[in-house]
Amino acid sequence: MQTFYIILLIWALLAVTTFFVLFFISAPYGRHYKKGFGPSINGTAGWIAMEAPAVIIFALMYTTGYCLDIYSIALLFMWELHYVHRTLIYPLRRRNTLKPMPILIVLFGMIFNGINGLLNGYWIYHLEDGCSGKWVPALFFLVGTAVFITGFIINLTADEKLLKLRRQRGVEYQIPQGGLYRYVTCPNYFGEIVEWIGFAIASLSPAALVFALWTCANLVPRALSHRAWYRAHFPNYPKDRKAIFPFLL
Ligand code: NDP
Repeated sequence: MQTFYIILLIWALLAVTTFFVLFFISAPYGRHYKKGFGPSINGTAGWIAMEAPAVIIFALMYTTGYCLDIYSIALLFMWELHYVHRTLIYPLRRRNTLKPMPILIVLFGMIFNGINGLLNGYWIYHLEDGCSGKWVPALFFLVGTAVFITGFIINLTADEKLLKLRRQRGVEYQIPQGGLYRYVTCPNYFGEIVEWIGFAIASLSPAALVFALWTCANLVPRALSHRAWYRAHFPNYPKDRKAIFPFLL
């Protein structure tokens, strides 16, 4: 039990460190792809391999926990909804548009997703008496689930807009317009952060809170890099568009 919290603390400190590092080095995939990070693989295969550990390890934690209460099943459903989409539907729908991905990034991603699946699943289904979902107050669960679903829809809608742009206009980048793009450069990242904050509220899990912290650590610096990239490439890029949090940052 104590070991688990020590590991979680180390994992949280690593998130904070990563947050600062990513202001200096953008993860080299997508528009920030650079040579010099070793060999690359096909982007679709890369995304599937990178995200699959989150699907498998969380499901393994659930099946070995024997938790049949409604909260435990709902948390499983939320996690797998996000990750089955991210592992299979997202990359397969983009199979003709995804750029190659450095194997190094894929390996980091696999470790990252594996650890998150393990810590989150272990906390919910195994720690203390197991099946911690049983004692989550209904109010937290309902509010958290509503926040999670809102974030999921924002993330999905924003990613969909980018996919549409790619299909309509080819490999050239365009300035996305409409919806939350009126306010921020990366509503997909904003939605992802909202989702995991929702999951943390719904599960009242410190592991989920650390995961939300990691999501911010990964996506806030990247959103700022994206906005800097748009500003450098499009002189007409809307000046008042925030990077990730509407009206704030
Ligand atoms: P991006 O917004 O950088 O790109 C998403 C896709 O849209 C890519 O295929 C990209 O192409 C394409 N695209 C981006 N901008 C444009 C444009 N202006 N015109 C046309 N096409 C465009 O997102 P990421 O690839 O970084 O992330 C994808 C998903 O994964 C997001 O939903 C994100 O929230 C999630 N994610 C979650 C993380 C976490 O820590 N939980 C970490 C990283 C991602 P190209 O690749 O060629 O730029």
